[in-house]
Amino acid sequence: MSRVPARAPNVHPGCRNVPRIGDGGFEELCHLVTEEDPDTALCGRDVTGYPWNPPWPRCEACLAVARGQLN
Ligand SMILES: [Zn+2]
Repeated sequence: MSRVPARAPNVHPGCRNVPRIGDGGFEELCHLVTEEDPDTALCGRDVTGYPWNPPWPRCEACLAVARGQLN
């Protein structure tokens, strides 16, 4: 029924199967990025090499910025 384009805002698609990374130095937070700058999270963090859409809690700072942008 829903045939909307699979295009999630601000979050990279297709990363549900990425295994948990704990020893790579990554914070286990799911940062949000923009299409214009996919290597920098909304909160300003460099997320180069981060897994996309990891099964981690969303970064509060990124969410706050995203809310502000929607305003
Ligand atoms: Zn963040």
